[in-house]
Amino acid sequence: MATIELSSVRHTYAPNPDGEAAYALKQIDHTFENGGAYALLGPSGCGKTTLLNIISGLVAPSEGQVLFDGDDVTQLSTAKRNIAQVFQFPVIYDTMTVRENLAFPLRNRRVKRRDARARVDEMLDVIGLGAKANRRARGLTADEKQKISLGRGLVRSDVNAILFDEPLTVIDPLMKWELRAQLKEMHRRFGYTMVYVTHDQTEALTFADQVVVMYEGEVVQVGTPEDLFERPKHTFVGYFIGSPGMNVLPVMVDGASVRLGEYTIDLPGSPKPYLARKLELGIRPEHVRLGAEGIPATVQRVEDAGRLKIVRMKAGGRDVVAVLHEGEEVPADPKITFDPGGINLYADSWRVDLAEPAP
Ligand code: ADP
Ligand code: MG
Repeated sequence: MATIELSSVRHTYAPNPDGEAAYALKQIDHTFENGGAYALLGPSGCGKTTLLNIISGLVAPSEGQVLFDGDDVTQLSTAKRNIAQVFQFPVIYDTMTVRENLAFPLRNRRVKRRDARARVDEMLDVIGLGAKANRRARGLTADEKQKISLGRGLVRSDVNAILFDEPLTVIDPLMKWELRAQLKEMHRRFGYTMVYVTHDQTEALTFADQVVVMYEGEVVQVGTPEDLFERPKHTFVGYFIGSPGMNVLPVMVDGASVRLGEYTIDLPGSPKPYLARKLELGIRPEHVRLGAEGIPATVQRVEDAGRLKIVRMKAGGRDVVAVLHEGEEVPADPKITFDPGGINLYADSWRVDLAEPAP
Protein backbone atom coordinates (compact mmCIF):
# COMPACT_ATOMS: atom_id res chain seq x y z
CA MET A 1 0.00 0.00 0.00
CA ALA A 2 1.15 3.54 -0.63
CA THR A 3 0.38 7.18 -0.06
CA ILE A 4 -0.59 8.65 -3.42
CA GLU A 5 0.07 12.30 -4.08
CA LEU A 6 -1.11 14.33 -7.05
CA SER A 7 0.94 17.49 -7.38
CA SER A 8 -0.22 20.32 -9.67
CA VAL A 9 -1.84 17.81 -12.01
CA ARG A 10 -3.59 19.24 -15.07
CA HIS A 11 -4.93 17.34 -18.01
CA THR A 12 -6.35 18.11 -21.41
CA TYR A 13 -7.29 15.69 -24.18
CA ALA A 14 -6.97 18.50 -26.74
CA PRO A 15 -3.74 18.68 -28.77
CA ASN A 16 -3.94 22.49 -28.85
CA PRO A 17 -5.95 23.55 -25.78
CA ASP A 18 -7.42 27.02 -26.03
CA GLY A 19 -8.04 28.16 -22.48
CA GLU A 20 -9.16 26.57 -19.18
CA ALA A 21 -12.35 25.11 -20.66
CA ALA A 22 -10.27 22.66 -22.71
CA TYR A 23 -8.91 21.06 -19.51
CA ALA A 24 -10.69 17.97 -18.17
CA LEU A 25 -8.65 18.51 -14.98
CA LYS A 26 -7.86 22.14 -14.19
CA GLN A 27 -5.59 21.84 -11.17
CA ILE A 28 -5.45 18.92 -8.79
CA ASP A 29 -3.38 18.88 -5.60
CA HIS A 30 -4.46 16.05 -3.40
CA THR A 31 -2.96 13.32 -1.25
CA PHE A 32 -4.64 9.95 -0.77
CA GLU A 33 -3.22 8.75 2.56
CA ASN A 34 -1.96 5.19 2.89
CA GLY A 35 -4.79 2.87 3.90
CA GLY A 36 -7.57 5.44 3.42
CA ALA A 37 -11.01 4.67 1.98
CA TYR A 38 -11.82 7.51 -0.39
CA ALA A 39 -14.77 8.24 -2.62
CA LEU A 40 -14.36 10.49 -5.63
CA LEU A 41 -17.80 12.02 -6.08
CA GLY A 42 -19.08 14.33 -8.80
CA PRO A 43 -21.46 14.58 -11.73
CA SER A 44 -20.83 12.90 -15.06
CA GLY A 45 -18.06 14.63 -17.03
CA CYS A 46 -16.34 16.32 -14.06
CA GLY A 47 -13.11 14.35 -14.58
CA LYS A 48 -13.33 11.40 -12.18
CA THR A 49 -12.29 8.70 -14.66
CA THR A 50 -9.50 10.91 -15.99
CA LEU A 51 -8.15 11.33 -12.46
CA LEU A 52 -8.34 7.60 -11.73
CA ASN A 53 -6.57 6.76 -14.98
CA ILE A 54 -3.83 9.25 -14.14
CA ILE A 55 -3.27 7.48 -10.82
CA SER A 56 -3.09 4.06 -12.48
CA GLY A 57 -0.99 5.27 -15.41
CA LEU A 58 -3.50 4.61 -18.20
CA VAL A 59 -3.41 8.35 -18.89
CA ALA A 60 -0.27 10.52 -18.65
CA PRO A 61 -1.14 13.96 -17.24
CA SER A 62 -0.44 16.99 -19.44
CA GLU A 63 1.21 18.66 -16.44
CA GLY A 64 2.21 17.82 -12.89
CA GLN A 65 3.43 14.76 -10.99
CA VAL A 66 2.06 11.58 -9.49
CA LEU A 67 4.01 10.40 -6.43
CA PHE A 68 3.75 7.04 -4.63
CA ASP A 69 5.29 7.29 -1.14
CA GLY A 70 7.21 10.33 -2.35
CA ASP A 71 8.63 8.65 -5.49
CA ASP A 72 7.76 10.21 -8.83
CA VAL A 73 5.91 7.56 -10.87
CA THR A 74 4.52 9.91 -13.52
CA GLN A 75 6.50 8.17 -16.26
CA LEU A 76 6.01 4.60 -14.98
CA SER A 77 3.79 2.10 -16.78
CA THR A 78 0.59 0.78 -15.21
CA ALA A 79 2.22 -2.59 -14.48
CA LYS A 80 5.17 -0.97 -12.67
CA ARG A 81 2.81 1.09 -10.51
CA ASN A 82 1.32 -2.08 -9.08
CA ILE A 83 -2.28 -0.87 -8.95
CA ALA A 84 -5.48 -2.89 -9.22
CA GLN A 85 -8.30 -1.19 -11.12
CA VAL A 86 -11.92 -2.25 -11.45
CA PHE A 87 -13.82 -0.64 -14.30
CA GLN A 88 -17.49 0.15 -14.86
CA PHE A 89 -17.95 -2.91 -17.08
CA PRO A 90 -16.51 -6.42 -16.66
CA VAL A 91 -12.95 -7.03 -17.81
CA ILE A 92 -12.49 -10.79 -17.60
CA TYR A 93 -11.48 -13.79 -19.69
CA ASP A 94 -14.62 -15.42 -21.09
CA THR A 95 -12.98 -18.76 -21.82
CA MET A 96 -11.53 -19.17 -18.32
CA THR A 97 -13.49 -20.46 -15.36
CA VAL A 98 -14.44 -18.17 -12.51
CA ARG A 99 -11.62 -19.65 -10.41
CA GLU A 100 -9.03 -19.22 -13.19
CA ASN A 101 -10.09 -15.62 -13.66
CA LEU A 102 -9.57 -14.87 -10.00
CA ALA A 103 -6.26 -16.71 -9.89
CA PHE A 104 -4.89 -14.94 -12.96
CA PRO A 105 -3.51 -11.80 -11.25
CA LEU A 106 -1.80 -14.05 -8.68
CA ARG A 107 -0.29 -16.40 -11.26
CA ASN A 108 1.07 -13.35 -13.05
CA ARG A 109 2.84 -12.29 -9.85
CA ARG A 110 4.09 -15.84 -9.20
CA VAL A 111 2.27 -16.21 -5.91
CA LYS A 112 2.75 -19.72 -4.40
CA ARG A 113 0.09 -22.20 -5.41
CA ARG A 114 -1.16 -22.84 -1.90
CA ASP A 115 -1.37 -19.17 -0.97
CA ALA A 116 -3.11 -18.41 -4.25
CA ARG A 117 -5.67 -21.12 -3.69
CA ALA A 118 -6.56 -19.83 -0.23
CA ARG A 119 -6.85 -16.30 -1.51
CA VAL A 120 -9.05 -17.30 -4.45
CA ASP A 121 -11.34 -19.29 -2.14
CA GLU A 122 -11.68 -16.22 0.04
CA MET A 123 -12.62 -14.06 -2.97
CA LEU A 124 -15.13 -16.64 -4.20
CA ASP A 125 -16.77 -16.27 -0.83
CA VAL A 126 -16.74 -12.46 -0.91
CA ILE A 127 -18.38 -12.28 -4.35
CA GLY A 128 -20.72 -15.18 -3.61
CA LEU A 129 -19.73 -17.30 -6.61
CA GLY A 130 -18.34 -20.35 -4.78
CA ALA A 131 -20.97 -22.61 -6.34
CA LYS A 132 -19.95 -21.50 -9.84
CA ALA A 133 -16.18 -21.59 -9.31
CA ASN A 134 -15.58 -24.11 -12.09
CA ARG A 135 -18.02 -22.64 -14.62
CA ARG A 136 -16.66 -20.77 -17.62
CA ALA A 137 -17.22 -17.02 -17.34
CA ARG A 138 -18.81 -16.90 -20.78
CA GLY A 139 -22.16 -18.30 -19.67
CA LEU A 140 -22.57 -16.01 -16.66
CA THR A 141 -24.79 -12.94 -16.32
CA ALA A 142 -23.42 -9.36 -16.57
CA ASP A 143 -23.87 -9.12 -12.81
CA GLU A 144 -21.79 -12.19 -12.14
CA LYS A 145 -19.10 -11.14 -14.58
CA GLN A 146 -18.75 -7.82 -12.81
CA LYS A 147 -18.42 -9.64 -9.50
CA ILE A 148 -15.51 -11.56 -11.01
CA SER A 149 -13.94 -8.21 -11.97
CA LEU A 150 -14.33 -7.05 -8.39
CA GLY A 151 -12.77 -10.27 -7.12
CA ARG A 152 -9.84 -9.85 -9.49
CA GLY A 153 -9.35 -6.32 -8.20
CA LEU A 154 -9.30 -7.47 -4.60
CA VAL A 155 -7.41 -10.75 -4.91
CA ARG A 156 -3.85 -9.44 -4.62
CA SER A 157 -2.65 -8.30 -1.23
CA ASP A 158 0.53 -6.58 -2.44
CA VAL A 159 -0.94 -3.73 -4.51
CA ASN A 160 -0.24 -0.05 -3.86
CA ALA A 161 -3.94 0.81 -4.17
CA ILE A 162 -7.23 -0.47 -5.53
CA LEU A 163 -9.16 1.86 -7.79
CA PHE A 164 -12.85 1.39 -8.53
CA ASP A 165 -14.55 3.28 -11.36
CA GLU A 166 -18.32 3.13 -10.74
CA PRO A 167 -17.99 -0.64 -10.35
CA LEU A 168 -21.55 -1.36 -9.31
CA THR A 169 -23.30 0.25 -12.29
CA VAL A 170 -24.34 -3.10 -13.79
CA ILE A 171 -25.11 -4.77 -10.47
CA ASP A 172 -28.75 -5.02 -9.39
CA PRO A 173 -29.80 -2.64 -6.57
CA LEU A 174 -30.15 -5.24 -3.81
CA MET A 175 -26.78 -6.78 -4.50
CA LYS A 176 -25.21 -3.29 -4.63
CA TRP A 177 -25.74 -2.80 -0.90
CA GLU A 178 -24.25 -6.13 -0.11
CA LEU A 179 -21.17 -5.71 -2.28
CA ARG A 180 -20.54 -2.21 -1.01
CA ALA A 181 -20.71 -3.45 2.56
CA GLN A 182 -18.25 -6.19 1.63
CA LEU A 183 -15.83 -3.70 0.07
CA LYS A 184 -15.93 -1.73 3.29
CA GLU A 185 -15.32 -4.88 5.29
CA MET A 186 -12.35 -5.78 3.06
CA HIS A 187 -10.97 -2.32 3.68
CA ARG A 188 -11.28 -2.77 7.42
CA ARG A 189 -9.64 -6.17 7.31
CA PHE A 190 -6.76 -5.52 4.94
CA GLY A 191 -6.22 -1.75 5.18
CA TYR A 192 -6.01 -1.23 1.43
CA THR A 193 -5.74 2.28 0.02
CA MET A 194 -9.02 2.45 -1.90
CA VAL A 195 -10.35 5.10 -4.26
CA TYR A 196 -13.95 4.57 -5.26
CA VAL A 197 -15.42 6.70 -8.05
CA THR A 198 -19.14 7.34 -8.12
CA HIS A 199 -21.71 9.97 -9.10
CA ASP A 200 -24.06 8.63 -6.41
CA GLN A 201 -23.87 10.46 -3.08
CA THR A 202 -25.35 7.57 -1.09
CA GLU A 203 -22.69 5.25 -2.44
CA ALA A 204 -19.94 7.75 -1.66
CA LEU A 205 -21.17 8.58 1.83
CA THR A 206 -21.63 4.95 2.88
CA PHE A 207 -18.33 3.70 1.48
CA ALA A 208 -15.80 6.39 2.31
CA ASP A 209 -14.16 7.89 5.36
CA GLN A 210 -13.13 10.83 3.21
CA VAL A 211 -15.15 12.07 0.25
CA VAL A 212 -13.40 14.06 -2.47
CA VAL A 213 -16.01 16.12 -4.30
CA MET A 214 -15.16 17.14 -7.87
CA TYR A 215 -16.83 19.73 -10.03
CA GLU A 216 -15.77 20.81 -13.52
CA GLY A 217 -12.24 19.44 -13.32
CA GLU A 218 -11.46 20.62 -9.80
CA VAL A 219 -11.61 19.25 -6.28
CA VAL A 220 -14.07 21.54 -4.49
CA GLN A 221 -14.09 19.86 -1.08
CA VAL A 222 -12.50 16.99 0.78
CA GLY A 223 -14.18 15.92 3.98
CA THR A 224 -16.14 13.47 6.02
CA PRO A 225 -19.76 12.93 5.02
CA GLU A 226 -20.73 15.16 7.95
CA ASP A 227 -18.44 18.04 6.85
CA LEU A 228 -19.92 17.94 3.38
CA PHE A 229 -23.42 18.04 4.72
CA GLU A 230 -23.04 20.64 7.47
CA ARG A 231 -20.39 22.93 6.02
CA PRO A 232 -20.38 22.74 2.22
CA LYS A 233 -17.33 24.71 1.05
CA HIS A 234 -18.84 25.48 -2.32
CA THR A 235 -22.46 26.06 -3.28
CA PHE A 236 -22.15 23.14 -5.70
CA VAL A 237 -21.47 20.77 -2.78
CA GLY A 238 -24.55 22.20 -1.05
CA TYR A 239 -26.76 21.42 -4.05
CA PHE A 240 -25.18 18.08 -4.81
CA ILE A 241 -25.13 16.54 -1.34
CA GLY A 242 -28.42 16.06 0.47
CA SER A 243 -31.86 15.50 -0.93
CA PRO A 244 -33.30 18.01 -1.50
CA GLY A 245 -30.13 20.09 -1.76
CA MET A 246 -29.25 23.27 0.12
CA ASN A 247 -31.24 26.48 -0.46
CA VAL A 248 -28.91 29.06 -2.00
CA LEU A 249 -30.34 32.59 -1.83
CA PRO A 250 -28.76 35.76 -3.20
CA VAL A 251 -28.32 38.30 -0.40
CA MET A 252 -26.66 41.61 0.47
CA VAL A 253 -24.38 41.76 3.51
CA ASP A 254 -24.98 44.50 6.05
CA GLY A 255 -22.64 44.16 9.05
CA ALA A 256 -23.56 41.02 10.98
CA SER A 257 -26.75 40.49 9.05
CA VAL A 258 -27.79 39.94 5.47
CA ARG A 259 -30.69 41.32 3.50
CA LEU A 260 -32.87 38.99 1.49
CA GLY A 261 -35.05 41.34 -0.54
CA GLU A 262 -36.68 43.56 2.08
CA TYR A 263 -36.00 41.16 4.98
CA THR A 264 -33.09 41.08 7.38
CA ILE A 265 -31.50 37.84 8.62
CA ASP A 266 -28.95 37.88 11.44
CA LEU A 267 -25.76 35.94 10.80
CA PRO A 268 -24.08 33.77 13.44
CA GLY A 269 -20.93 35.92 13.02
CA SER A 270 -19.64 38.91 11.07
CA PRO A 271 -17.98 38.30 7.73
CA LYS A 272 -15.23 40.56 6.44
CA PRO A 273 -16.67 43.28 4.22
CA TYR A 274 -17.19 41.90 0.72
CA LEU A 275 -17.49 44.45 -2.03
CA ALA A 276 -19.11 43.95 -5.41
CA ARG A 277 -19.07 40.16 -5.23
CA LYS A 278 -21.80 37.58 -5.60
CA LEU A 279 -23.03 36.85 -2.08
CA GLU A 280 -25.35 34.00 -1.21
CA LEU A 281 -26.84 32.54 1.91
CA GLY A 282 -26.89 28.74 2.09
CA ILE A 283 -29.36 26.98 4.33
CA ARG A 284 -30.27 23.31 4.32
CA PRO A 285 -34.00 22.51 4.09
CA GLU A 286 -33.57 20.74 7.45
CA HIS A 287 -32.66 24.12 9.04
CA VAL A 288 -35.64 26.10 7.71
CA ARG A 289 -38.36 26.60 10.37
CA LEU A 290 -41.99 27.43 9.70
CA GLY A 291 -43.79 29.46 12.36
CA ALA A 292 -45.50 32.71 13.26
CA GLU A 293 -42.38 34.92 13.05
CA GLY A 294 -40.02 35.69 10.21
CA ILE A 295 -40.20 36.08 6.45
CA PRO A 296 -43.68 35.57 5.00
CA ALA A 297 -43.82 32.61 2.63
CA THR A 298 -46.34 31.07 0.28
CA VAL A 299 -46.54 27.30 0.17
CA GLN A 300 -46.54 26.06 -3.40
CA ARG A 301 -46.32 22.31 -2.98
CA VAL A 302 -45.98 19.72 -0.24
CA GLU A 303 -44.40 16.40 -1.18
CA ASP A 304 -44.70 13.29 0.89
CA ALA A 305 -41.28 11.64 1.26
CA GLY A 306 -41.97 8.77 3.65
CA ARG A 307 -41.20 9.97 7.16
CA LEU A 308 -40.52 13.48 5.91
CA LYS A 309 -42.47 16.22 4.16
CA ILE A 310 -40.81 18.42 1.58
CA VAL A 311 -42.38 21.89 1.58
CA ARG A 312 -41.70 24.02 -1.48
CA MET A 313 -42.32 27.73 -0.94
CA LYS A 314 -41.75 31.23 -2.29
CA ALA A 315 -40.27 33.73 0.15
CA GLY A 316 -38.79 37.15 -0.59
CA GLY A 317 -39.31 36.38 -4.29
CA ARG A 318 -37.15 33.24 -4.06
CA ASP A 319 -37.74 29.48 -3.99
CA VAL A 320 -37.18 28.09 -0.50
CA VAL A 321 -37.49 24.42 0.44
CA ALA A 322 -38.06 23.13 3.97
CA VAL A 323 -38.09 19.58 5.30
CA LEU A 324 -40.52 18.70 8.10
CA HIS A 325 -41.26 15.45 9.94
CA GLU A 326 -44.37 13.65 8.70
CA GLY A 327 -46.34 14.59 11.82
CA GLU A 328 -45.56 18.33 11.63
CA GLU A 329 -48.29 20.71 10.52
CA VAL A 330 -47.72 22.93 7.47
CA PRO A 331 -49.26 26.34 8.35
CA ALA A 332 -51.41 27.96 5.64
CA ASP A 333 -49.40 31.19 5.57
CA PRO A 334 -46.14 30.34 7.27
CA LYS A 335 -43.35 32.67 8.20
CA ILE A 336 -39.88 31.25 7.94
CA THR A 337 -36.75 31.55 10.04
CA PHE A 338 -33.38 29.86 9.69
CA ASP A 339 -31.52 27.99 12.47
CA PRO A 340 -28.48 30.24 13.12
CA GLY A 341 -26.16 27.21 13.30
CA GLY A 342 -27.28 26.10 9.84
CA ILE A 343 -26.51 29.39 8.09
CA ASN A 344 -23.62 29.44 5.62
CA LEU A 345 -22.50 32.48 3.65
CA TYR A 346 -20.92 32.21 0.19
CA ALA A 347 -18.89 34.80 -1.71
CA ASP A 348 -18.48 33.94 -5.39
CA SER A 349 -19.73 30.42 -4.58
CA TRP A 350 -17.07 29.73 -1.88
CA ARG A 351 -17.93 29.53 1.81
CA VAL A 352 -17.00 32.49 4.00
CA ASP A 353 -15.77 31.85 7.53
CA LEU A 354 -18.24 33.63 9.79
CA ALA A 355 -16.19 33.08 12.93
CA GLU A 356 -13.69 35.76 11.94
CA PRO A 357 -14.57 39.17 13.35
CA ALA A 358 -14.87 42.14 11.05
CA PRO A 359 -11.49 43.95 10.83
P1 ADP B 1 -16.29 11.47 -15.43
O1 ADP B 1 -15.61 10.17 -15.23
O2 ADP B 1 -16.37 12.31 -14.18
O3 ADP B 1 -17.64 11.33 -16.07
P2 ADP B 1 -14.25 11.92 -17.46
O4 ADP B 1 -12.94 11.94 -16.79
O5 ADP B 1 -14.65 10.71 -18.20
O6 ADP B 1 -15.40 12.35 -16.42
O7 ADP B 1 -14.31 13.13 -18.50
C1 ADP B 1 -13.93 14.46 -18.19
C2 ADP B 1 -13.99 15.30 -19.45
O8 ADP B 1 -13.01 14.86 -20.38
C3 ADP B 1 -15.33 15.24 -20.18
O9 ADP B 1 -15.61 16.51 -20.70
C4 ADP B 1 -15.07 14.23 -21.27
O10 ADP B 1 -15.90 14.48 -22.38
C5 ADP B 1 -13.61 14.45 -21.60
N1 ADP B 1 -12.95 13.21 -22.06
C6 ADP B 1 -12.85 12.05 -21.34
N2 ADP B 1 -12.14 11.12 -22.02
C7 ADP B 1 -11.79 11.70 -23.18
C8 ADP B 1 -11.02 11.27 -24.32
N3 ADP B 1 -10.48 10.04 -24.39
N4 ADP B 1 -10.86 12.15 -25.32
C9 ADP B 1 -11.36 13.40 -25.28
N5 ADP B 1 -12.09 13.87 -24.23
C10 ADP B 1 -12.30 13.05 -23.20
MG1 MG C 1 -16.31 8.19 -15.56
